[in-house]
Amino acid sequence: MIITGKQLVGYSRSGKGTQQFESQVTGENGKPFLFYEATTEEVATAVQKAQEAFDVSRGLSGKQLAAFLEAMAAELILALPTVIAVTQQETGLPAKRLEGEMDRTTKQIQMFATLLTEGSWVNAIIDPAIPDRAPLPKADIRQMQRPIGPVAVFGASNFPYAFSVAGGDTISALAAGCPVVYKAHPGHPVTSELIGECILKAAVATNMPEGIFSLVQGTSHETGRALVTHPAIKAVAFTGSFNGGKALYDVAAQRPEPVPVYAEMGSVNPVFVLPGMLQEKGTAIAQALVASNTAGTGQFCTNPGIIVSLKAEETAKFLADFCEGINGAAGSRMLTDNIYRSYTGGVERLRQIAGMQAIGAGTATAENNSAIPHSFLISGNAFLSEENMYEEVFGPASIQVMASNTNELYEIADKMPGQLTVTVWGTTADLENFKSLIFLLEKKAGRLLLNSVPTGVEVTHAMMHGGPYPATTDSKYTSVGSTAIYRFTRPVCYQGFPEFLLPEALRNENSLNIWRQVNGGFNKDSL
Ligand code: NAP
Repeated sequence: MIITGKQLVGYSRSGKGTQQFESQVTGENGKPFLFYEATTEEVATAVQKAQEAFDVSRGLSGKQLAAFLEAMAAELILALPTVIAVTQQETGLPAKRLEGEMDRTTKQIQMFATLLTEGSWVNAIIDPAIPDRAPLPKADIRQMQRPIGPVAVFGASNFPYAFSVAGGDTISALAAGCPVVYKAHPGHPVTSELIGECILKAAVATNMPEGIFSLVQGTSHETGRALVTHPAIKAVAFTGSFNGGKALYDVAAQRPEPVPVYAEMGSVNPVFVLPGMLQEKGTAIAQALVASNTAGTGQFCTNPGIIVSLKAEETAKFLADFCEGINGAAGSRMLTDNIYRSYTGGVERLRQIAGMQAIGAGTATAENNSAIPHSFLISGNAFLSEENMYEEVFGPASIQVMASNTNELYEIADKMPGQLTVTVWGTTADLENFKSLIFLLEKKAGRLLLNSVPTGVEVTHAMMHGGPYPATTDSKYTSVGSTAIYRFTRPVCYQGFPEFLLPEALRNENSLNIWRQVNGGFNKDSL
């Protein structure tokens, strides 16, 4: 394993910085690998190369870009054993979990390759000319999605593959034909360099232009700011904490030319357990929620952090079952020192809230930064009297909220800010009785779940992993699933163009055999 600790700037390696930081992984000499902090100049060179690459990548066919993605997935599979061993040391995540995440990551890359090969994702729309229309002739108007330009990507520490260097943000941007400059997370710099190298190998093998992908490392926020403020960057994708996402969003908004920032941030993913279902399956629901809340030491953005139910005779048993599960749960090493500090601080904050009762606590392991799972209880009334109750405590902590009546339950739902997910557990009768609750909750989240747990985000075409602010900075888009590609495209309309100047997808002959909207109807016909 060769680790340079340098920036991957196009096809060159660059280590011009005077500052270095240590990784948690040691080399053969027993010393931690050292990484150069990227300089502003190196960030600018990476963006410059991305800008030049864009003039080539936007002319590539879907099949050429698909070949790049396929080659990348193959490189990652080849590198798997080395990468997993390293990531385990850097993150403390178990090998099995990492294998699963890598499988999901390569399948996600292949899904985008299939999308590009099929080709209809470009949303070709053709309104043919009507030269003899009275009183004025109608021009020939055609539209399709085109890439937006070089994209800056920031990934989170809790998904070192799926939301990192070769994760959904990078892949959907590359699939759209946009070069990517990736700011590596300092929580896993060695993993980042290894995966960055896989992307570059695939790029070389498939004749991608230099600059299609670059990776810069750094612990200083300056690196990220320099990237976001570079005038050639045309969009930013961020996955991580609310503070990080909002800070970069604000930086981008102050640019002379503002650009879209797709920040996917934290969420508490409230769960409503309705009375009929609680009575019928209370114990099973409690067990499912404990498992979901403590999986991966609670370090999932879809972790169910708030569980709301109506006070009733059966609720005591449900709470007892939930506490039993939490008391028996063991946390483990958290991803980074910062995340551990912020988790213990968050638990302390919950303890201090008026009316909050600590009702369950699990155990920690002997590892450094090992988290203890916690469970709290608060009345609906006390919950509603406090501000910031929906703030994320990233880790295995949850709050049971006991509403004293239906009105209170609706108020709790109404007060909720934007979320990635909201879950309802209910029998058919419950769902009939609480139909208006579901209607209300639709305003609050990107994904609504029934009788399930929110952790485990499927990578599918219909997935929506996003939601109203503060879950994200743009509720219209998902960061998971094939429609994530539309964050990095913009519609371009071609009016009165001759055949030879039109992109292939819009020509009369449908040589790509894609679905197109012609005069308002969908078909695969040639004109
Ligand atoms: P993070 O601390 O926000 O870091 C993400 C990246 O942004 C890092 O590269 C970080 O660099 C950079 N960054 C953060 N603040 C910055 C600033 N002010 N200026 C410039 N760069 C900045 O995220 P994390 O703690 O690793 O991830 C955990 C969080 O991510 C949780 O809240 C979780 O819910 C959320 N998450 C959300 C999703 C989703 O899809 N919505 C998925 C996974 C995780 P530095 O480390 O150098 O600051």
